[in-house]
Amino acid sequence: MAKILIIGGGAAGIAAALTAAKRLPGQQITLLERMDRVGKKILATGNGRCNLTNANAGPSHFYSSDKGLLRQALEHMPPRQVLEFFSELGLLCQEEDEGRIYPYCKQASMVMDVLLLALERANIDVQCGCAVTAIERKKGRFTAKTADGRSFSAEQVILTAGGKAAPKLGSDGSGYRLAQQLGHTCVPVYPALVALKCDMNGLGGLKGIRAQAGLTLMAGEHMLAQDVGEVQFTEYGLSGIPAMQVSGRLSRLRKGERCTALVDLFPQWQPEALFRYLKSRQKADPQGTLETLLLGTVHKRLAYTVLKSAGLQPLSRENRTLTAAELHRLADLLKAWPFPVTGTQDWEFAQVAGGGIPLKELDLTTMASRAVPGLYLAGEIVDVIGDCGGFNLHWAWCSGMRAGEAAAKEAAR
Ligand SMILES: Cc1cc2nc3c(=O)[nH]c(=O)nc-3n(C[C@H](O)[C@H](O)[C@H](O)COP(=O)(O)OP(=O)(O)OC[C@H]3O[C@@H](n4cnc5c(N)ncnc54)[C@H](O)[C@@H]3O)c2cc1C
Repeated sequence: MAKILIIGGGAAGIAAALTAAKRLPGQQITLLERMDRVGKKILATGNGRCNLTNANAGPSHFYSSDKGLLRQALEHMPPRQVLEFFSELGLLCQEEDEGRIYPYCKQASMVMDVLLLALERANIDVQCGCAVTAIERKKGRFTAKTADGRSFSAEQVILTAGGKAAPKLGSDGSGYRLAQQLGHTCVPVYPALVALKCDMNGLGGLKGIRAQAGLTLMAGEHMLAQDVGEVQFTEYGLSGIPAMQVSGRLSRLRKGERCTALVDLFPQWQPEALFRYLKSRQKADPQGTLETLLLGTVHKRLAYTVLKSAGLQPLSRENRTLTAAELHRLADLLKAWPFPVTGTQDWEFAQVAGGGIPLKELDLTTMASRAVPGLYLAGEIVDVIGDCGGFNLHWAWCSGMRAGEAAAKEAAR
């Protein structure tokens, strides 16, 4: 029987295993992973570069359905904790724009290499191809059953099976079912950090264009979320970091409520300044046509499509014929171009799962279950998600370390 059984070999599970092993040298710690290797998702993070934490990690970058407890959950989780964890493993890290922290060599595979070496040196019993399908607790002992008929027992279990996002990388939602088997509830889950599907009727020509833009998600007059960055126009809607950042807020829509993404192609400009600029372009080139009115500003195909959406046609029309009202209409559209949102891309394309095991069911100082003695939960399975930028891995490492530390302390008693 293992001292500690960890279910799920992602960031949270590995951090939990290494932390527990440090406190319990020589004791059996078993890590069960359903895929053929641990850390598959880590390899895919940050476009293969692994944005492993963020220097600005703090409550304003995280979300949960329980805002009150979120702050408490994130207490004593400074980015320094992640840097120290990796520094001890010999991984050199470097900060880039907006506080994003990457391994110095910019390779997620290097992060995995140092983690694998550490697991080996700590003598952690890593069992891959081991999908846990059922778990029960009887007489103070947990028994986990796997899809291939094996069973593993332990006094302490750390459940770090992730959420439902990117199932090809391992997390298929089975972690929620295991937690429920043991008596936990689950806040409804939704795909987050995922592209927005929009009604692109007549906008197919925008496919493949990238633009520095603002993106505001509106439900009627109510602003749900806002971000600025590189927006990507696709055949199904809007992608890129701003679209992904705001996507989680769609879960807040009431049934049947519609929402619109407003794209601001001049996020640094006030509407009036943009109008004056358009007016000056008209004045400077009255004989020129609409085809060149926006030349040198935004992508040509974007410009033509916005002009069309503003009802300014044909492109051969001379600039001097534009009225002040038409220029205002164009400026308004360049600042807030509406894309009716029809949903998000599926789980397959999501980076994280919002929702999960409610914070109120955990002792947040230890990540211990309040319902089941000896059970700990950490990482994405818990109802916490972060912004793009290293925040989700930050939560996974830190909550995993917290659970590993507490489970080891308990096991040592
Ligand atoms: C493409 C992509 C890029 C990303 N990039 C970044 C980034 O750069 N920075 C950032 O902060 N975040 C990023 N994220 C999010 C981040 O990777 C996750 O939030 C984080 O890895 C979650 O860690 P976890 O350990 O909780 O869950 P996971 O990483 O999902 O790990 C859970 C593990 O449990 C295993 N498992 C599941 N069920 C069972 C079971 N029944 N039995 C046994 N094993 C099981 C899974 O196979 C998996 O290995 C990215 C996500 C994706 C999909």
